[in-house]
Amino acid sequence: MIKNIYRQGRTIFSFEVFPPKKEEEFNDIYNTLNKLKTLNPDFISVTYGAGGSNSKKTAAIASYIKNSCDIEPIAHLTAVAMDEAFLTDFINELKEKGVSNVLALRGDRPKDMSDEAYANRRFLHAEDIIRIIRRESDICIAGACYPEIHPESESRESDLYYLKQKVDTGVDFLITQMFFNNHKFYKFRELAEKKGIHVPISAGIMPITSAKQLGTSVTLSGTSVPGELSSLVAKYADAPEDLRKAGIEYAVKQIEDLIANTVDGIHIYTMNKADTAKEIMEQLSISKI
Ligand code: FAD
Repeated sequence: MIKNIYRQGRTIFSFEVFPPKKEEEFNDIYNTLNKLKTLNPDFISVTYGAGGSNSKKTAAIASYIKNSCDIEPIAHLTAVAMDEAFLTDFINELKEKGVSNVLALRGDRPKDMSDEAYANRRFLHAEDIIRIIRRESDICIAGACYPEIHPESESRESDLYYLKQKVDTGVDFLITQMFFNNHKFYKFRELAEKKGIHVPISAGIMPITSAKQLGTSVTLSGTSVPGELSSLVAKYADAPEDLRKAGIEYAVKQIEDLIANTVDGIHIYTMNKADTAKEIMEQLSISKI
């Protein structure tokens, strides 16, 4: 179980991958995982579609990570379109496949979910599924957290209040939303500690390797972009290879600073790009890990 790896007293390294949209792309994700395996991550997480339509893919990929790559997998799951029976079935399916870690999320409203279905959803918050998973199994549970506050939160205070409540319900460790300014993470970590949140926190690092990325996933996440990073993207607007190199260097600098500041873990959002993860790991001198 992943919670035991954090007890080794060193910085834990992990990667995130997402299931392919099309069945015929499954070989690509398995090739990606075979490459990521050579980097010896402590665990690999697999995302989950908010509506639940790709839950089988998440489970199959998590199973491959465990049974073919011999690495601890963590399957994401989102509560927004689930009921209790679906939740129990999914957890049982994971257990049958040897997957004993889940990242329990609320998820965002799927585009095709009606107002009525959303208003009447069974689970309102991640905490609601964490309570059930914890009651019914001894699986390791992770939760999400937001160094720059969840976009729907009224204030930092209320976000931390509910985070503490979520952790106390049964979270073993946390993974953060991506951030590009380490000082925001350090402030969040200090406030969480003061609030009595003592589980390990892995820092989510998104290497920016194309200009398009800033306009999509980053904007949607509500994460702020420091001037240094947006200047790099502007500077290399017409030089995609140079931008990729600069984005990787930025991520390496961020990670080295986090390690120097005794972060519990680094979680790299790979966007299924094993080469990017490899370059980052190679540029980090092993003595820093
Ligand atoms: P919650 O913890 O439920 O929090 C959501 C909001 O509600 C916050 O503002 C919080 O302060 C508030 N809140 C929490 N509990 C309560 C309560 N009891 N009463 C009142 N307010 C409360 N999405 C996907 O669809 N698939 C994925 O695979 C996926 N992976 C992710 C991985 C990570 C590491 C992160 C950080 C996010 C991921 N997301 C994913 C996005 C996530 O689903 C969204 O950010 C979603 O909006 C919130 O999910 P949560 O679990 O953090 O929600």
